[in-house]
Amino acid sequence: MESYEALIKKQREFFSTGRTKEVAFRMDTLKMLRNLIKSHEKEIMAALHTDLNKSEFESYTTEIGFVLEELRYTLKHIENWAKPRKVKTSLTGFGSKNYIYPEPYGVVLIISPWNYPFQLAFAPLIGAIAAGNCAILKPSELTPTTSEFLTKLIRENFQEDYIAIVEGGVETSSALLNEKTDYIFFTGSVAVGKVIMEAASKHLTPVTLELGGKSPCIVHKDANLQYAAKRIAWGKFTNAGQTCVAPDYLYVHHEVKDEFLKLLKEAIQDLYGNALGEESQFTKIVSDRHFQRLKTFIYNSGTIYHGGESDAEKLLIAPTVLTNITWEDPIMEDEIFGPILPVMEYEDILKIIDEMNQHPKPLALYIFSEVERVQNKVLESISFGGGCVNDTVYHFTSPHLPFGGVGESGIGAYHGKGSFNVFSHEKGIMKQTTRFDLPFRYPNTKHGLKWIKMIMK
Ligand code: NAD
Repeated sequence: MESYEALIKKQREFFSTGRTKEVAFRMDTLKMLRNLIKSHEKEIMAALHTDLNKSEFESYTTEIGFVLEELRYTLKHIENWAKPRKVKTSLTGFGSKNYIYPEPYGVVLIISPWNYPFQLAFAPLIGAIAAGNCAILKPSELTPTTSEFLTKLIRENFQEDYIAIVEGGVETSSALLNEKTDYIFFTGSVAVGKVIMEAASKHLTPVTLELGGKSPCIVHKDANLQYAAKRIAWGKFTNAGQTCVAPDYLYVHHEVKDEFLKLLKEAIQDLYGNALGEESQFTKIVSDRHFQRLKTFIYNSGTIYHGGESDAEKLLIAPTVLTNITWEDPIMEDEIFGPILPVMEYEDILKIIDEMNQHPKPLALYIFSEVERVQNKVLESISFGGGCVNDTVYHFTSPHLPFGGVGESGIGAYHGKGSFNVFSHEKGIMKQTTRFDLPFRYPNTKHGLKWIKMIMK
């Protein structure tokens, strides 16, 4: 197994020079990254097309455009974020001034998955740079063209002792995890998340784990069905359902089920009607193993309501809707991560809230309803990472909303200032006055305890 000890040592040496802490240096790096992305847009799109058959539209909206927005937002605010922040002085600290100093951890490791191979590598990298760290990136081996391109881009433009990239699979990840780094940011599956946390515990390295799971989507009887159908079709079938926050399964109220399914079918036709055609712009399944795994669901779970066709050579599966689903069906065991949407119907929303609470806390949840009482009941009764009322996936796009899981769907959150915070330690500092010295804390002060009890109660 290869050793990354020397690389990490080099980064530690560079970190100790203090350069990465200079805000001007961080900003120059972020601007350079922005220029590189802009000037290589076509190559990034081509790589994403080769690996996943992503269309230019999806590549831009869900990967490149998203990263450029994060860069723009970070560059606008970084000077403020990086400054020490003054906070209130408590009564016991009378006379002192109190501050929070954000400081970088040092050398951070970012391990990313294949489903948005550009965005999920570069969005955390922005946070790492903004906070003043050195970084090592380990992209996914399942999207080799994109990983190779990212490697070329980084190696040609950054010194290895500041920003490094290492290609490889499980072995490479394990070798990197053997070494002590100062922070680990992992995006991937729940199973591997556990491996990462175990490895991190050996060095007491803090982690952010951006994981997945089964994210529910509820369509209540009072929902705007037309919008619900279109927004669900988009959120589920963008990237062929290989999105961590895609609605994994649907609960539809039985009174509106038939009408909703009809509208959903129309929306799918409208948005992704040519998924298996000659000039298909539909994202493909990343590997044959995943293709076979997904295909079996089509035949062993429920009834095909729409779709079901596939093309093994091109690894394409048409957007598929399955009805007559129960929790006993194989498709309901784990995260689907593909263009297959199982639909269950319900009568009593309280019952399905109970059902969802029997399962691990999801990364996302979506509720379609026009009634605030219903929306609030769902939001208050179920714990989940984040989500939308009357939409799907879109919460991901706001730099003002923390993005992350809870329970089995992850630990920690990022995006916008959250990305800066993830990669910063907040150092609490009290600057004490030397103009006087309040006596109460000292054990020999007369009536000291009486005074202290008046302040600390
Ligand atoms: P994965 O966990 O298989 O792999 C992720 C990364 O971990 C890859 O770089 C891989 O090389 C590495 N890895 C794999 N096995 C490892 C091991 N045993 N030890 C160390 N490293 C290992 O995930 P994936 O298949 O690439 O991505 C799909 C999963 O990621 C889904 O579960 C999805 O929900 C989740 N995901 C979550 C988010 C989020 O933001 N929360 C985003 C995208 C994907």
